[in-house]
Amino acid sequence: KVYTETVTYPLWERRSEHAAIVGPFPQPLAVIALGYSAGTPKGGLTAEVVKFDSLDALKKADPASVKGKIVFVNAKMARHRDGHDYGIGSAVRTGGPVLASKMGAAAFLLRSAGTDEHSRTPHTGVTGFRDPKEAIPAAALSLPDADQLDRVLGYGKPVSIKLDLDCGITGTYTGANVIGEITGKKYPDQIVPIGGHLDSWDPGTGAIDDGAGVAIAMAAGKMILSLPQRPDRTIRVIAFANEEMGLFGGRAYADKHASEVSKHQLGTESDFGARKIWRMTASVKPSARGAIEQIAKVIEPVGVAYDPQHPGGGGSDLSQMHAKGMAALTLTQDGTDYFDYHHTANDTLDKIDPRELAQNVAVYAAFSYMAAQADGDFGSAPDAFKNDGARD
Ligand code: ZN
Ligand code: ZN
Repeated sequence: KVYTETVTYPLWERRSEHAAIVGPFPQPLAVIALGYSAGTPKGGLTAEVVKFDSLDALKKADPASVKGKIVFVNAKMARHRDGHDYGIGSAVRTGGPVLASKMGAAAFLLRSAGTDEHSRTPHTGVTGFRDPKEAIPAAALSLPDADQLDRVLGYGKPVSIKLDLDCGITGTYTGANVIGEITGKKYPDQIVPIGGHLDSWDPGTGAIDDGAGVAIAMAAGKMILSLPQRPDRTIRVIAFANEEMGLFGGRAYADKHASEVSKHQLGTESDFGARKIWRMTASVKPSARGAIEQIAKVIEPVGVAYDPQHPGGGGSDLSQMHAKGMAALTLTQDGTDYFDYHHTANDTLDKIDPRELAQNVAVYAAFSYMAAQADGDFGSAPDAFKNDGARD
């Protein structure tokens, strides 16, 4: 059964973006506008740059030192298997522009939330602007450009940048969560939701974010559909709309299905590329740990270690159902190089290794089928996992 559920959201458009240091050493900068950024006045704006090494440093700054200037936050991210430094980069990208706007800055620049130190490919992504009246021009510099700006600032002379962004909100748009499900033969109203998100950032093709996630969940569903018998519970594959601009698909799904939290057995979304899954964590009721251990035994031979100490968050969009009380897994891919490509023009299909993708499909097929066949439930109930600390 395949159907859609509509999702409405603001439509933000990127048209063009340019940046250059105008003094003391004129040179162009590789830049990309961030989601919900305001445009600059036609012809661009030129202002002096003031640099901070972290979001905290900006928070502590005297607003008078920032007023009318271009704030530049140069926070660095390192490569990690679990990608945890994205917490730093995404906090700067979402929180920095809002803070700079409140302090009276003319515009905001950040060192891209990425780890590709030698690529002049800036990383886009959403800001925290939700009210267009609060928005100022906000953009990301590629890592070599951020280093270069830092070097130029190191001379101690005032540095000015010309920023020319043509972008902004043009209206609203109605898209859809696209849902395909295999109806369970024993408990059709009990659901095992898996998925990915349909949208991607515009500079690349969205192969790793999140074509891979949609492909993994769909392929797992297809494998289960090809079995001679139907699973006991319903397997629901959800391709979420507009995750990137603020979890719109995930929020719409959670709002529409809020009264069915208890019927959503155990869910997770794939939204971290397609390298091998190496870890499984779960947020389930204590008496369901045995069932989770059985799943762990089946996926252990393909390289997945079960970590019972940490909660599972359900992935990006399904975190919204988890927040309402759905039991959730997190199946963590190896993200060591994920932030080399994430939200850039380099997010293309050549970054996906078919054998690693196949391991992901195997893990999703095994877990979702076993969850559909499990004897008991996993503890989903309104507010069941309120304080488990899971985040995505
Ligand atoms: Zn994503
Ligand atoms: Zn993304």
